[in-house]
Amino acid sequence: MKDLVNLSQARWFVYAWSEIYGWLANSWDYGPYGSLLKENIKNLWIKEFVQKKDEMMLLDSSILLNPKVWVASGHVWGFSDPLIDDKNTKERFRADKLLEALIESLWEKASDLQTKYSVNNLIPESWPLEKQTEVMRGEKVVNPNNWEVWDWTDAKKFNLMFKTSIWITDDSSSTVYMRPETAQGIFVDFPNVLRTSRKKIPFGVAQVGKAFRNEITPGNFIFRTREFEQMEIEYFCEPGTDLELHARWKTDCMNFLQSTLSLNSENLRFRDHDADELSFYSNATCDIEYKFPFGWWELWGIADRTDYDLKAHMAESKADMSYFDPVNNRKYIPYVIEPSVGLNRLFLTVLADSYTVEWAWEEARTYLKLDPKVAPIKVWVLPVVKKIWDLAKKVYSQLAEDFVCEYDEVGTIGKRYARMDEIGTPFCVTIDSANYEAWKVTVRFRDSMEQELVEISELNEFIRKRLK
Ligand code: ATP
Repeated sequence: MKDLVNLSQARWFVYAWSEIYGWLANSWDYGPYGSLLKENIKNLWIKEFVQKKDEMMLLDSSILLNPKVWVASGHVWGFSDPLIDDKNTKERFRADKLLEALIESLWEKASDLQTKYSVNNLIPESWPLEKQTEVMRGEKVVNPNNWEVWDWTDAKKFNLMFKTSIWITDDSSSTVYMRPETAQGIFVDFPNVLRTSRKKIPFGVAQVGKAFRNEITPGNFIFRTREFEQMEIEYFCEPGTDLELHARWKTDCMNFLQSTLSLNSENLRFRDHDADELSFYSNATCDIEYKFPFGWWELWGIADRTDYDLKAHMAESKADMSYFDPVNNRKYIPYVIEPSVGLNRLFLTVLADSYTVEWAWEEARTYLKLDPKVAPIKVWVLPVVKKIWDLAKKVYSQLAEDFVCEYDEVGTIGKRYARMDEIGTPFCVTIDSANYEAWKVTVRFRDSMEQELVEISELNEFIRKRLK
C-alpha cells in the first residue's frame, strides 16, 4: 500500500490536498494522470450501463436538495455510524469496525461471543449500541493506535451528513445537507423521468456525482474519504421480477470489473448479505468485495430496495410515484435494484490491481498493467536524438488527433520508458533518424517490452486496433 501511495503521488495520480497549507487530513486531489484515469473509468461505466443499454438513461441532479428529501429517505434520523471515544486519548472510532476486527482475530472462537453476550449474529453493525459498548468493554478491545488502552465511552449514534445553510434573508437561514449519496436525486426525479422519457418498465436511471459523508474514520488512502464520487443506478421494475433482475445486475457489474476493466478475478468475490444483515426493506443485497492490500472490503453494493424509497417520498411529498403498466392495465409502485459503486474506490482498485513489480536482469521493474482502455495516456512519443525533435512532433500531432498522447524528449530512453511504465502507458513510439527516413517508427509494448517497426502512415490504425 505504501508503494502504491508513493507511486500515485510521484507520478501525478493523486496529491494530498492543499499541500501548501499543510494539508487537510484525508482529502486528496487528482493530478493530471489521476484525472484522466478517473475520467476513463467513469466513461467506460457510462458506456457499459447507459450507452449499451437501451432502457437506461443518465441524470445529473443537484448536490443540495430540499431538506425534506433526507427526512423522507430516513437519512436525518438514521444515517449514522456507531461512534465510540477512547476516554484517555480522546480519539474517535467506529465501534462496529473495531468489533469486526475483534471477531476476525478470534477465528472459529468468535462464535463464543454469541453465547456470552446473547447476540443473534456476528455482524456488529446490526447490534444495538448498548450491546456494542458491552462487548467493547467486556472483551477489553484495544485502541488500534496504541494497543494498550481500553477505556471506552458509551457508543452513540453519529449522523454522517454534512450540514450547511442557505440564507433566505439577512438574518434567517435554513439548514440544508450536502447529499450523502446520489441515489435520492434519482428517486425524487422519478415522476419527471417517467413523464418525459416514455420508457416502459423495466428501465433505469444512472448518475455520477459527488457525495459527502462526515466519516468517523476515513483512511486507507482514497478508500474512505469524506468527499467522494459515486456512480449509482436505480433500475425500476415490476414487483416480483426484482430477484431475477438483482441476480442479473450482480453478473453485469462483475463482468464490467473483469471484462471491461480487466481486473483479476481472484481478487474479486460476491458476498451476499444474510437475513440478519439485510435492511428491513431489502429483498436481497450483495457486495462485490475486492482484495485490497489491507484485506477484503466492499467495492460495489447491489441492493434490491423494493418500493421503500418511492413509497417514502410519496408519503412525505404526496406526489404520485406509481407507474401505469399499459400492457397489463395495472398500476403499481415499482421495485428498484440499486447497484452503487464509489468512483474513487474503484480508482484505487484499478491502481492496486494493476500495480506490478517484475524482476528482469536482477533489476525490479515497476509498472501499472492497466487495460489500454483505462490507461490515462495511450501513447508516448519519444525522439531518440535532438536533431529529429521537429519530426517527432509531427508524429505526435498525427497521433494526438485520435489518442491522448504525450511527447517527451528529456532523459535517456531507458529512464523515459521506466517513467511511462509507472504511468501505465501501453505504447511508446520511439523515433530515430534512420527509421524516420524510411517513414517508420518503433512501437514498444509496455507489458512484454517487445518492439515492432510500423509505417508512420499506418501508425494510428495500428494503435487503434490494439486499444480495442
Ligand atoms: P462502507 O460500509 O464502506 O461505509 P456503505 O455500505 O456505507 O460503505 P454505500 O452507502 O452502499 O456504502 O455506498 C455505495 C458505495 O459508495 C460503496 O460501495 C463504496 O464504493 C462507495 N463509498 C461509500 N462511502 C464511501 C466513502 N466514504 N469514500 C469512498 N467511497 C465510498
